[in-house]
Amino acid sequence: MGRRLLLHADADAFFASVALRDRQDLRERPVAVVAHVVVACASYPARAHGVHAGMGIDEALRHCPELVLLDVPHGEIEEAGDALLELFHAHAPAVEPGSIEEAFLDPGTDDVETAVAIAASLRRRAASELRLPLTVGIGRTKLMAKLASRAGKPDGLHVIDAVRDRELRTSLTPDRVWGVGPRTLARLADLGVATLADLDAVPREELQQTCGAAMARRLRQIREGTDDAVVRPVTRRTSFTATGATSGYARPDRTPLELLETCVGRVCHRAERSGLAGSSISLTLTPASGERARVLRTSRVEATAQNEDWQLLARGLLERAPLPRLTGLGVTLERLVPADQVQGALF
Ligand SMILES: [Mg+2]
Repeated sequence: MGRRLLLHADADAFFASVALRDRQDLRERPVAVVAHVVVACASYPARAHGVHAGMGIDEALRHCPELVLLDVPHGEIEEAGDALLELFHAHAPAVEPGSIEEAFLDPGTDDVETAVAIAASLRRRAASELRLPLTVGIGRTKLMAKLASRAGKPDGLHVIDAVRDRELRTSLTPDRVWGVGPRTLARLADLGVATLADLDAVPREELQQTCGAAMARRLRQIREGTDDAVVRPVTRRTSFTATGATSGYARPDRTPLELLETCVGRVCHRAERSGLAGSSISLTLTPASGERARVLRTSRVEATAQNEDWQLLARGLLERAPLPRLTGLGVTLERLVPADQVQGALF
């Protein structure tokens, strides 16, 4: 068998795509999903106007006065993330999630046609069952699979075959290797490294001194074709998180207690549906003052997925906290165990 082919599956403009599922009327319009005063995700038509994630709303509106602003649909995003993960698991025995909306998959094949068929099925089902555009890249290492998904975006399928793989290991510029920051890039430029092939002329120790042992090793491995090709599967979830904002752009404001109730309900619902129960819950409070978020956590209790149990515990936790004015709140149900292993009820 040749080298296994890996898939990198990545939902396109995920937050915006989820928000637009029931807004066909906005499909072709520039849309930004906003969190507080910042763009969390821009749709592709908005990106064409120079709007991108992390940009302040004022600046985004200067770039694109007709920009449509939507609130982050937190609950729908969490549900869509769970459904995507399920879809990934239905297509490969080994899935390593990178974030809520992307993952590496190892379907266990070295045959390009087979890998393409799996990728096509993933994309078809994401579109029909989840109504989400998904790009899939195929390559022989994680880097190559990810470069392929970048090349395929949006809503595409792209393969980096053995020939292209070899070419890239010569011609790739270091800025396209994920994890290489601006400082390392500047240092590599000082060494005369404009492409991976230029690494050949740099003495080993010099490269190590310039960008650190780990990065030096990784760059050499990429050049040689021995970089990371192992999908490390996550077998079971360890937590569910739900987040929300107290103030909205298009929806009414909510009190921290109302928000808490919604978020606790969402994590319990997701845990129950997955056949899991939590043993502790933590709250992440984001103060309006801009201070660092505070995390509060219950001690460990007997595992349960009962909404009423967690509502009581979470409310108690929030009410005991000296409460600053909040802009956002997150709830994480933690230390999950299979629900069928739980002995009795909590109370
Ligand atoms: Mg994405």
